[in-house]
Amino acid sequence: MSIRQRLYPNLDNNEILVMHCSKARFVYNLGLEQRNLWRKDRTARINYRTQAKELAEARQAFTWLKEGSSAVQQQALRDLDKAFRNWWNNQAHFSRPTWRKAGINEGFYIRDLSVRRINHKWGQVLVPKAGWVKFRLSKPFSEIEASTSAHVTLDRSGRWHASFTQAQLGLKREPTGALLGLDMGVVATVTTSEGQILDMLELLKKVERQRKRRLERKLARQVKGSNRRARTKLAVAKISARESDRRKDWIEKKTTDLVRDYDLIVVEALKVKNMTKSASGTKDKPGKQVSQKRGLNRSILEQSWGMFRQRLTDKATHATAPVTIVSINPAYTSLRCSECGHTDKGNRKSQAVFCCLSCGYTNNADVNAAQNILAAGLAVTGRGGTSHANKHSDPMKRQLLEVVA
Ligand SMILES: [Zn+2]
Repeated sequence: MSIRQRLYPNLDNNEILVMHCSKARFVYNLGLEQRNLWRKDRTARINYRTQAKELAEARQAFTWLKEGSSAVQQQALRDLDKAFRNWWNNQAHFSRPTWRKAGINEGFYIRDLSVRRINHKWGQVLVPKAGWVKFRLSKPFSEIEASTSAHVTLDRSGRWHASFTQAQLGLKREPTGALLGLDMGVVATVTTSEGQILDMLELLKKVERQRKRRLERKLARQVKGSNRRARTKLAVAKISARESDRRKDWIEKKTTDLVRDYDLIVVEALKVKNMTKSASGTKDKPGKQVSQKRGLNRSILEQSWGMFRQRLTDKATHATAPVTIVSINPAYTSLRCSECGHTDKGNRKSQAVFCCLSCGYTNNADVNAAQNILAAGLAVTGRGGTSHANKHSDPMKRQLLEVVA
């Protein structure tokens, strides 16, 4: 659980916050590079401890690093360590940690958190080297006070936020016995095995979308380096930031709903997913054009699904009643009949319609795929018996059994 509040640093604070971002990123990337190189030359172990020790030494040698906060820089290494642990523990679910980029990944963590309330509208958070920085209270102060850490971020439209996180505060839920398969699509929708379609873009207003497209066209015509162009750029960034907020809210809300309602959630394994949904797309699931038509570019969509998985797993891990998240190999899930198991290219009448050549079963193609995903997950976890997939010993099932997340 985290509570996101908007931060309002003054000019001096702002400079220090920007410095924290850039030094946290530098340390993170340096740590990442070290770990990447290690793969080729396995001599000594690298972990958080060894890297933190080296950071302390580097801080003695380089004044500009020393000027920054050691707490912020250490936290960047912890963050890196966590990203690697996630990846090691579940490679089907998490991708390998990648570089933090300037202008995109602007942020840092505050670990030993201090907050105080000024009045009913404003609070303050203690930022290393910067002192107390104001934030606007939109949630009860008691909830923020109970937090143990904060992630401070700067978005592309220049807004600062602090996400206050409570350690291990689990989602309250009761076991439901309900099981679900999810098909994360290329058009910003999640289709469930129960036939629900969760649309990420439902919240993004059409008018805003059109306005953004118009501004982007204008931007392309304007002279590089001109003031007008800079103004247009900022306007685009502001819309993007609002969109990104809504996507985050959507992900928070939907993952909470899913974890609360289901004891087992099956998703497609990450790596295989990337392969099957290449930029050019396949005949089975055209990739690029579809998402462009929907106005959400591919990298944003991938990032969003990444966040979706992450939040789903986080919430499942800390829920008061256990929720199992399973990743499976999605091979053939879109061509296979969830009713009789018949797998055939001809089953796919179109992008949207599935109609089995063998038994005549007809459904929305994504719903059919989500049902196969659920069946595969049940087979993998040995919880089968409720699903048709277990009645048929087809090659797909054997293949799926090999991929246990
Ligand atoms: Zn069939």
